[in-house]
Amino acid sequence: MASPEIDALTQALARLPGLGPRSARRAVLHLVKRRETALVPLVRALQAVEERLVVCATCGNVDTHDPCAICTDPRRDPRLLCVVEEVADLWALDRSRLFPGRFHVLGGRLSALDGVRPEDLAIDALLSRVSAGGIDEVVLATNATLEGQTTAHYIAERLETLPVRLSQLAHGLPVGGELDYMDEGTLAQALRARRPVA
Ligand SMILES: [Zn+2]
Repeated sequence: MASPEIDALTQALARLPGLGPRSARRAVLHLVKRRETALVPLVRALQAVEERLVVCATCGNVDTHDPCAICTDPRRDPRLLCVVEEVADLWALDRSRLFPGRFHVLGGRLSALDGVRPEDLAIDALLSRVSAGGIDEVVLATNATLEGQTTAHYIAERLETLPVRLSQLAHGLPVGGELDYMDEGTLAQALRARRPVA
C-alpha cells in the first residue's frame, strides 16, 4: 500500500495527457528513487512555472512575461502574423525558428460537435489586432483537419474586408494532420509553400 502522498501524486500524474495509471506509477517510483536528480529538479521547475507563468494578452502564448518573448522580439517581422489553434502549435512552428513573424493563438477550433463557437475563440481579438494595422500577411495555420479548415474558412471570411493578404499552409500536410505532431521538415515545407486563400 502506498502512502496517501504517493497516491495523490500518482493520481495527479495519471490525469496528464499521454500518461495513464501505469506510467504514472512508474514515474512516481522513478522520482522516489532519484530524489536529487529527478524529484528535486521537477519540484523546482513546477514551482517556477506555477509562480511565473502568464498568458500573453497580445498573442495567447504562454510565457513568463506579458507581452511574451515572441511579441517583444525585435528581430521578428511584425507585418507577418501566423494564426494557430493552440499554444502547442505555436511552439511547434517556433521550435526551429521556421516562422519569422509573430503569432496569434485562437485557443481551439470551431466545432459544432463540441459546441465551440466563434465567440469561444480569440477571433475578435485577431480582428482587432489586424484592424489596428501594420500587418501585411496573415497565415492561417490551423490544422489540416475538417474543424481546422472550417475555422480557417470562417476567419478568412471575417478578415475579407481588411487590407491584408491571407495565406494558408501548403497541402504538403497530411490530411487530418495536427501541427504539433509534424516534424520540422514537413512544417518548414508547408510554410515555405504557403498559398493565398482562394
Ligand atoms: Zn505574445
